[in-house]
This record gives sequence, C-alpha cells and structure tokens, in this order.
Amino acid sequence: MKKKTFQEIEKKWQEKWWKSNIYHADTDSDKEKYYVLVEFPYPSGQGLHIGHARSYTFLDVYARVKRMEGYNVLYPIGWDAFGLPAENYAIKMKVNPNVVVDQNIENFRRQAKSMGWSFDWEREIKTTDPKYYKWTQWIFLQFLKNGLAYKGEAVMPWCPKCKTICANEEVVDGKHERCGTPVSKKKASQWWFAITKYADRLIEDLKYVDYPDFVKASQINWIGKKEWADVTFKIDNSEESFTVSTTRPDTIFGVTFIVVAPEHPAIEKIKHLIPQQYKEDVETYIEKALNKSELDRISEGREKTGVFTGLYAINPINNKKVPIYVADFVLMSVGTGAVMGVPAHDLRDFEFAQKFDLPIIRTIKDPENGDAPVDSKEKVYEGWDGVMINSDFLNGLSPKEAKEKVTEILKEKGLGKSTIRYHLRDWSFSRKHYWGEPIPVVYCDKCGMVPVPEEDLPIELPYVESYEPNEDGESPLANITDWVNTTCPNCGGPAKRETDTMPNWAGSNWYYMRYLDPHNDKEFCRRDILDKWMPVDIYDGGSEHITLHLLYSRFVYKVLYDLGFVPGPEPYKARRIHGLVLGEGGVKMSKSLGNVINPDDMVEKYGADITRTYLMFMGPYSGNAEWSNKAVEGVRKFIERYYSLVEMSIKNPADVEDIEVTKELHRLVKFVKDNVLDFKFNTAVAKIMKFVNSHKNIRLTKSQAEILLKALAPFAPHLTEELWEKLGNEFSIHQQLWPEIKEEYLTDKIIEIPVQIDGKVRTVIKVPKEASENEVWERFKKSEAFSKYLNEKSVKTKKYVSGRIFVVVTA
Ligand SMILES: [Zn+2]
Ligand SMILES: [Zn+2]
Repeated sequence: MKKKTFQEIEKKWQEKWWKSNIYHADTDSDKEKYYVLVEFPYPSGQGLHIGHARSYTFLDVYARVKRMEGYNVLYPIGWDAFGLPAENYAIKMKVNPNVVVDQNIENFRRQAKSMGWSFDWEREIKTTDPKYYKWTQWIFLQFLKNGLAYKGEAVMPWCPKCKTICANEEVVDGKHERCGTPVSKKKASQWWFAITKYADRLIEDLKYVDYPDFVKASQINWIGKKEWADVTFKIDNSEESFTVSTTRPDTIFGVTFIVVAPEHPAIEKIKHLIPQQYKEDVETYIEKALNKSELDRISEGREKTGVFTGLYAINPINNKKVPIYVADFVLMSVGTGAVMGVPAHDLRDFEFAQKFDLPIIRTIKDPENGDAPVDSKEKVYEGWDGVMINSDFLNGLSPKEAKEKVTEILKEKGLGKSTIRYHLRDWSFSRKHYWGEPIPVVYCDKCGMVPVPEEDLPIELPYVESYEPNEDGESPLANITDWVNTTCPNCGGPAKRETDTMPNWAGSNWYYMRYLDPHNDKEFCRRDILDKWMPVDIYDGGSEHITLHLLYSRFVYKVLYDLGFVPGPEPYKARRIHGLVLGEGGVKMSKSLGNVINPDDMVEKYGADITRTYLMFMGPYSGNAEWSNKAVEGVRKFIERYYSLVEMSIKNPADVEDIEVTKELHRLVKFVKDNVLDFKFNTAVAKIMKFVNSHKNIRLTKSQAEILLKALAPFAPHLTEELWEKLGNEFSIHQQLWPEIKEEYLTDKIIEIPVQIDGKVRTVIKVPKEASENEVWERFKKSEAFSKYLNEKSVKTKKYVSGRIFVVVTA
C-alpha cells in the first residue's frame, strides 16, 4: 500500500474536524472560559500572507495548549471587510464590492482551513453583513443619544480629480492614494465621536491591563496630556499682545524670540503695526506656508523657515525685548499657536536660532554639559534635571521648582495661567464613500436631524451602478434618490437620509463582542454571555494597530460600559505584539523583489504541519524573523524523524519502559507548556527537536508515545492526530488533557543554588535544573532563610542567574 502523504493526512483530519466541530466553544459550558483573539483580517484580493499565517499559528498553538489545560477556549475569526481597497477596486473594475469581498473571503477561509487553525467556524462574522452592521449602527445611535456623536465642520483633504473629500488616511505624501493627485483643502461637515471626553480615563485605566510598555506608551503619547503655561507677551509700543504656550515656563529667562503660526488669527489684528519694509515678505511667507500640509511643516530634519515681522515682544518676567517671527513649524492646532523661542532647551528652537542668528541663553546647568555654551545640537538640554542659572531670582532652583514659581508670578501679574492640553482630537467618524456602514439618521425640513428608530435598523447599503462620488464631492449614495428620499420617523413628512458612511474603524472596534453571540438579532450580544466571557484574555496584533485601533476600541467599550451594556472598563486583559516575517537576508518581502512566500505554496510543498512548525521555530514571537529555505528543510527533516520515531514505536513498542526516557518526557512537556504560555514558541519547538534528535533509534512504550504526541500536538495538529489514531486511541488528541506532569520526575536533575541577600550568601536551596526565576523564588520563600533574612523587608530587586545564583536586594 502506498504511503499517505502528509497533505493527504492533513486533508482527512481537517474534514473530520470541521464536520465534528471539535473547536467550537460551547457558550454554556461549566468549564472555565479562556478567550484568545487575533486581529481579524481585511480580506484583500492577494489572500492570506505569510505574516497572517505566522500570527494565527502563534495564537492557535496558544489556544490549543489552553484547551489541553482544560479551559473552554474560544478562538474565533471573521472579516473586516469594509474599506477603501474594495471600493477602489470596485470603481476600477465596475463590480459591486459585495461580490469581490465574498470571493476574497472564500479564498481566505479556504487558506485558513488548509493551515488547520482551530477557529470556531460557527462564530465567523463579517462587518459588511447587514446582520452585523445593524449593531454597528445601533452603537452609533447610543453615542448620538448620549451626546457622544455630533456633527461639525472640519477642513478636510480634497481631491480635485476624484472630486471627493478624502479621509486623512487616504492621503499619502500629500497625494490622494487612489489617483496620485496632490490634494488641497476644503471645508466639509463631518460626524465626530467625542473621544476627548474620555482622554483621562484612557490613560488612567491602562493600570488595569497587561500590555507591553511600548504599547502603553503609544496610547499615552497619542493622547498627549501635558501641563502647559499660557504666557502673555505684550507687543512693544502697542496695546496688542500674543499669548504663547509652553510646557517649560522655567526656561523663560532663556527666551530670545517669539514665533507665531502663519494661520494665527491675531496676525490680521496686528498687521497694521508691521513696519512697511517687512509687510510684503510677511504676506508672501504666510501665503506659501498655508499651502503646505501640517505633516510637511513639522516633519523632522526639514530646514526651518520663517520671517521677521519687524515687531518686538516684552518678556513679562524680565521685561526684555525679543523679536517676533512668523514660522510654519508652529501649528495653530498645538497650544495657542504661538511659542516662546528658548534655543538652549528646545531642539526646534535651536535650529531656528541658528538659521536666523539669534542669541542662545543657557538657563539650566545640566548633568551632561554643565554650563558649557550651547553651540551645537548635542548641547541642547530638554530634560528636567540640573539647576537654574542665568535666571535671576530662579538661580539655584531645580527646573520643576522654577516652573512652579514662574507660573505663580505670571498668575499674580495676570499674564499667565496653567492649562492641561491634549494631543488627542475628537474622532472623525464619517467618510464620503460608498463602501461603509450607512449612518442611521435622516434630515427633515420640519424636525431637523432625526435618528432612525432602533427597530428600523439595519439601514442597508443600496445596490448602486457607480461608486464614484458625485460632482459636488458628496458620497455616491447621494445619487440614489430612491434611497435618499425617505419619510421622517418623527412627523411622517418628507426627509432625506444621511449619505456619509462610517469610517473603516467602525466595525472593528467592537467585533470581539459579536463573536460571543454572533447570531443574536435582538441584541449585539446577550448580557450574561458578556459577563461570562469578557474581557478578552489575550489579544494578538501587529505593531501598526497599537495606537488608533486599540484606542478606539477601548473608547467604544468604555462608553458601552458607562451605559451599562458591558461588564468592565477594559475590553482586553492582555495585548501582545508579534514581529514581522522578512525575506531571506532580512529584507522586506515584496512583489518587486520576488521574495514573497505564499502560504498556499508552502502547504502544497511541505504540508501545513511543517509550515506551522517552521513559522513557530523561525524566531522569537515579538522579533522580526528572516525566512530561510534551508531552515524550512531542517524542520521538514525533524518532522519526518519525529513521525517515524512514533510510527516505529507503534509497530514495535518497547517491551520495558525506560524510566529515564519517561522522566525526560515529563520535563519536556513541562518545558513546552511553560514556554508556549510565555510566548516563547521557538524555544518550545527547539526542545522537542532536541529530544527527537537524541533519541533517533529508541522505541517508546504506548504511554511514552502518547506524551510525545501531546507535546507536539499544538504545533503539528494533523500528524499527531493521525499517530494518535494509529496508537489505537479515540478521536481526538485535541480533546485530551495535557499530560499530567509528575513532580518527582522533574526533580531528578536537582541543582543547588546559592541565595545572596544584600551582597551576602545566606543559604543554598535545591531547585530543578530548568526552574524559572519564579519557581526558584517560590522555593526560596518556603526556606528558613527567607523568614530569617527577609521577613517584613520589602524586596527591591530579585534576579535568577540561571543555574548559578539567586540575588535579592532589599529596599
Ligand atoms: Zn483622487
Ligand atoms: Zn419630521
């Protein structure tokens, strides 16, 4: 009989898994829940890429280990299918986005199944399904009802060729992404979500979650909460003044100029003061500056430009006269739109001072450069350490003390106050596009804006012939008069529907809740199910989503929490960020370089299990990993060796159990489990490889073979399932519990570790050779030395130098 290929084995088990639905999470199970979430993909025409394949495998392995630990694990998948690429494709090819999206999803689903990921297919969702976006619209109505959604004007990018208002994310390098035409600006009415009302809580509540530090920092920086001082500088020889905003009032003795944003409304008021010989230059400069995008104006490394106004301002603290400039690196949208120039302690100010040959006064003797003259970029000091110098009555104070003192004096004089400001702006929540959720409001001549009643949801997207915006830049929906003209739910008179649609973030900020109750047509999710399953226990995603997606979804969840719809303030208990897959040699994968690895080709050539195991082995979870065909071959050899080791042991099992091998297997499964739960997938695989390589020619007993199968089952679910069956066991290995680990087998390799407390070795404890820092600590806690030397003292740091010493420093 011909031997089955790995691919044939994989097909057989996939069919059986999907048919028997063994990865379905039963909502009403008594087992403890565990919710594993990966960011759902945008189903593009290219299909799944290898980066998706890697991150879905990471979390699949994790979910499988959790299942084998006895948890009721939910690992769902769906499709984030609204968005610009589908709309752009529809415009180009003249097909309805629905058709394209469904084709793409079918391809993604086929690929996902071919990789053997243990998704709960009964819970599959897509954001473009009216049964789904009914609830996206319902959430919008809750925001509207509670004053958190409003309509307001905004200056938006405008593409003169497509005649459309563009979303900010559609503008790349100042050009419209769809057609490459440089965009200009146009005022337009927009829907907004009042996320700024939640700014403080979005910072504070980070204390409840387990996110990597850089993810928390990214949330905090984007919100950008800072204490500013607004300081009034009077214009010399006039009654007019400018209010500058600064986060560093302590450096006020170092001010050598003032800079005002070109769009500052006060410029108009002081124009008549500008001496004749400067007027033309100032006007020309302002006109030029206003045509640049904000991003261009503030981008780093760009040479500073500006123009002197011929006017001077008076420093309210030391009454010195300083020149006033207009320069485009200052934005009206930041602070008051005017800044005080302190070149010794601000890099941008330093660059400006160099360009215009302005004086530089150091006011902080800092720990790095002391009081050396600030004659190069490296000597600019922006920190808060050191002492004040060249600052009259502030000399000798710390910058923080000086800041308080200056703010106090300015307040007394009526020339300054402190203000809390945020970088965060309200969230623009409408687009002039077809392919998005219709916004459920109508406009009535008599009643004004009227929300669509909840019982009338969903407002479905109508089928249209053309997806281009109309001549006035309105959404293509505006052309469908049948759809636009409706009756007012309030008075029954004629009304018109809102033709803007929601942005592509709308469906992705609450999808993780819909998985919990995907077929419910009465609520977005039943409350008792939310109580049981939220928050998500672990959420994996890419580093491109650690700012906005995370912030928006946390915000929406908080609003629903305040309205009593969900059980807690945060949707995700823990967030992890995977690295990228790079091509051979560490370069980015790209079509033009011809180094793109397609998961389909890998499955065809090697099968899913070798592909999965290689993806886990190729490098650490959070680092970027380089593709290597040689290493893929190495993994193929390992899997074949593993397969034949177990197969041989099934045909011809060991007569007597070698207890040393059993002990090693116990240590192996413990290591694999601990490392997977610690997101060290690569070291877990390496350990199994090592075991197989050092036991090539042995035979295992049935129970030994079972342990070895379970160790690899999360990585290579198909082949281990096949061998499990060959061993005479019942379907399925993936519904078995993880092998019970015998403590006495682990303690075989016991080593002695000296424990050093505050520089002195106080005791020696016995620990398993592969104990983690936490395990060593736990064992030490049970020792006499612990109560003798550490009782009631608080520990400042502890560190386990693996296999050598445990070091404790007390506070
Ligand atoms: Zn365009
Ligand atoms: Zn009406």
